[in-house]
Amino acid sequence: MARNIGAVCRRCRRENLKLFLKGDRCYSDKCAFERRAFGPGQHGQSRFRKLSDYAVQLREKQKVKSMYGMLEKQFRLTFDRAERQKGVTGENLLVLLERRLDNTAFRAGFASSRDQARQVVRHGHILVNGKKVNIPSYLISENDVITLKEKSRANAIINESLEAVARRGVPSWLELDKDAYKATVKAMPNREEMTMPIQEQLIVELYSK
Ligand code: SF4
Repeated sequence: MARNIGAVCRRCRRENLKLFLKGDRCYSDKCAFERRAFGPGQHGQSRFRKLSDYAVQLREKQKVKSMYGMLEKQFRLTFDRAERQKGVTGENLLVLLERRLDNTAFRAGFASSRDQARQVVRHGHILVNGKKVNIPSYLISENDVITLKEKSRANAIINESLEAVARRGVPSWLELDKDAYKATVKAMPNREEMTMPIQEQLIVELYSK
């Protein structure tokens, strides 16, 4: 499956926000955003320009796409699905993004970033209700039990991520049993718990043009 392999830290600097795309590095003094908190490229340090409404909406969409490591086509399909659901489209979109298996594995601490979680899922380390699922976009449901495959429990990178999850915390919709390498989906993700500064209505406005 295609994925965005552009310079990762550049995306944070472009959005003027820490997107936490590189796991532990994001929490250290090696974070490129902490060291160079201005836009990338030749004009990155030029003075702030007032953006048009369209540019503001576009940047918001790009920011969320980067956060979840998605390409335009996948992201648009997710938006279309959100639009078909009952309720508020923007909130539906964020909930669908949170329900992705790669995001759930990241939130549970089986990986230190969503990018790493995508690899963990794709390489078959994750079981959902006891069955191997290697599709990062698979949507988890309430009461699903996500476990790490028996053979993968010795994986040093995954164990380091589980140790580090205490720093970021596990959202209330997930219950983690670290010793059993198991996370249970107690409820559907909710908008209130998504603390990253996202204005999802700007994405709705962009795609509604
Ligand atoms: Fe962004 Fe993490 Fe890179 Fe810092 S280290 S710029 S938060 S991806």
